[in-house]
Amino acid sequence: MKRISYFLLSLLFVSSSLFAQEQESKKPQGHTDQNKFRQMKDVLATPNETRTASGAPGHAYTQQKVDYVMDIRLDEDKHQLYGDEKITYHNNSKDYLEYLWIQLDQNMRAKDSKTPDINSESFNAAFNGPRTFSNTNLKSRFDGGFNIEHVKNEDGSDLSHTINQTMMRINLPKPLAPGEVFKFQIKWWYNINNHILDGGRSGYEAFPDGNSTFVIAQFFPRLCVYDNVEGWQNMQFWGRSEFALEFGDYDVKLTVPSDHKLEATGVLQNPKDVLSREQQKRFATAKKSFKDPVFIVTQEEAEKAETERSKKQSTWHFKADKVRDFAFATSRKFIWDAMAVDINGKTVMAISLYSKEGNPLWEEHSTRVVANTLEEYSKLTFDYPYNKAVSVHAQMGMEYPMICFNYGRPNPDGTYSERLKRGMIGVITHEVGHNFFPMIVNSDERQWTWMDEGLNSFVEILAELDYDPNFITGNLPKDIVPYMGGDQSYLSPIMSQGDYVYQFGPNAYTKPAAGLYMLRQTIMGPELFDHAFRTYSKRWMFKHPTPADFFRTMEDASAMDLDWFWRGWFYTTDYTDIGVKEVKRYYLTDQPTERAKEVAKRSNLNLDEYKDKLVYFAEAEEGEVIENEKSASDFKFLNDYIETLPEEFKSRAKEAPKYFYEVTFEKPGGLVMPIILELTYEDGTKERKTYPAQIWRYNENEVKKVFRTQKAITSIVVDPDLETADVDTSNNTWPKKVKENKFDQFKEKVKG
Ligand SMILES: [Zn+2]
Repeated sequence: MKRISYFLLSLLFVSSSLFAQEQESKKPQGHTDQNKFRQMKDVLATPNETRTASGAPGHAYTQQKVDYVMDIRLDEDKHQLYGDEKITYHNNSKDYLEYLWIQLDQNMRAKDSKTPDINSESFNAAFNGPRTFSNTNLKSRFDGGFNIEHVKNEDGSDLSHTINQTMMRINLPKPLAPGEVFKFQIKWWYNINNHILDGGRSGYEAFPDGNSTFVIAQFFPRLCVYDNVEGWQNMQFWGRSEFALEFGDYDVKLTVPSDHKLEATGVLQNPKDVLSREQQKRFATAKKSFKDPVFIVTQEEAEKAETERSKKQSTWHFKADKVRDFAFATSRKFIWDAMAVDINGKTVMAISLYSKEGNPLWEEHSTRVVANTLEEYSKLTFDYPYNKAVSVHAQMGMEYPMICFNYGRPNPDGTYSERLKRGMIGVITHEVGHNFFPMIVNSDERQWTWMDEGLNSFVEILAELDYDPNFITGNLPKDIVPYMGGDQSYLSPIMSQGDYVYQFGPNAYTKPAAGLYMLRQTIMGPELFDHAFRTYSKRWMFKHPTPADFFRTMEDASAMDLDWFWRGWFYTTDYTDIGVKEVKRYYLTDQPTERAKEVAKRSNLNLDEYKDKLVYFAEAEEGEVIENEKSASDFKFLNDYIETLPEEFKSRAKEAPKYFYEVTFEKPGGLVMPIILELTYEDGTKERKTYPAQIWRYNENEVKKVFRTQKAITSIVVDPDLETADVDTSNNTWPKKVKENKFDQFKEKVKG
């Protein structure tokens, strides 16, 4: 008895291995070290004591600190800004510094700026409107560069310096030793640009009522970052790739007309000098209002202020610790509201400043969106550490510590489209979100746009969906398909310096955001992803992370090897395309098949001797309906055998499958990705299966899977929820979907 059962088992084994499933060849294609899963050791910088292999700052990590004390004065009528700036530079590095590099961003608007010169031009203007007038019709350029009046040492003596476009080198009298401090002063002024006519991330907007709103940033000479990754980060500012900045403490006095309302980075030091008693009272009320914004200045009050002009000046005094930059907004046109946000027991203020032109949209949404953003981002990263976040209405979207400038202007009659409202909610979420990346997790924006824009656009998706579950984000994997499937000669890897990438928006915002969303939802799952993402955010809070620190931390905190994902998604322009190439169906029969006979002949086996000892796997023809399908237990000799088995095996054998499908998946796309499947059965029920990307490790062109089922499969869909940015879904279904009927195809042909 024992022997017979052994014999039967071995026959079953022979039959299944010979006739049914041919195991995939385990032979790798080409050199294994060239495959899509090879580790990133050749690409990432070697870990050291400042940046560890785990992706955390090392024990020898240091960063410079720069403190600023500034006196700033606005000449409202002339549109000029004056500054007197005292800088304290702390050399926390282990290096001797012979010179310091200062960023002069406003020189991008200097008369001799090279920024317009590097752009290829064509003259295709058909007409002039207010928005295009200055670009097409003005002979001379606006002169918005810095006028540096002096650069002086602490003792008042002049410091030797050299200006190269947007960068200024200050030659130190003697090298600055590790741990030493250097104090110096710069006096400057510049003409403020009209950001509507001349563009820019800062400037003023003039209104027909004779007033302007000023949103002012990059307005003072700022230190470049010095670190062990770039040395001095002194790549020129061409107007696109943003900023690399050190943290420091700011003490800033801003002198503006007395009837202006003003917000800036930092904590207001002298509310009694600049706010009326009523306004101070309203602020106190707002600090306790966690549900709705409270007006500090109403629209009625702002409209009244528009018609008057104070001849007096007021000085607003702000202090901000541990910030990488400083910006402010000022105008007599501003309406002002604020509400309290509870961040883990700490009260933070959400604040908005907007002219009446922003209403009714702004009073309805701005401050609430700020509050929602602070709450959501804090959940996914760390508790928001500053005391406030301000959203200012301006026709742009730009971020600074604690304050940002956002678009979203209704029509003059106050009506607005759903699209405009969505755009405004999106931009406020995005720009307030930048407080986290890069204002606190302070990556090098000049070098890597994606590190702040990509990470921020990703968290933005989750914050927007929290504000409105039906929000259309435009940053999901399916949204990046047209870009990734587009002309390869206009694509750059995400890992490119920002000034050199084609299609800046999709490259640096949407693709990294969609990639991170895919990592969270599809590849890692929210639990592992969120922990790793939070770990990265906390590790690099108030520090300067690099891409390697991010890639390494995400793996370090999750136990997932994601090198294949970083390599494909961030370092190449490959795209996802996975499909079903072929489906073979098999069923069980007691009649020897042609294939069985062939194999038997080769093995010198007489199949007649195995009658009632073997069943055969027959392949169904395409479209063939299999009738009276059987499972192993439907054959008497097999059932008799099953009856002799231990209970546990018997019950499993009774569930033996009736249908066998060998599915070949193809991968015309260069990226490896998980295969996500939806199987639909004859009774309408559905089943999902996900195979990790590692399924492609031995053969990246095609892989096979066998499905053994009790119900017939009627359809197979790859990536049914469009999670993987698959650029061509025409091969994603079996049986193939006929998209158009024959007549439509014929019509298309005739049209040519
Ligand atoms: Zn951004």
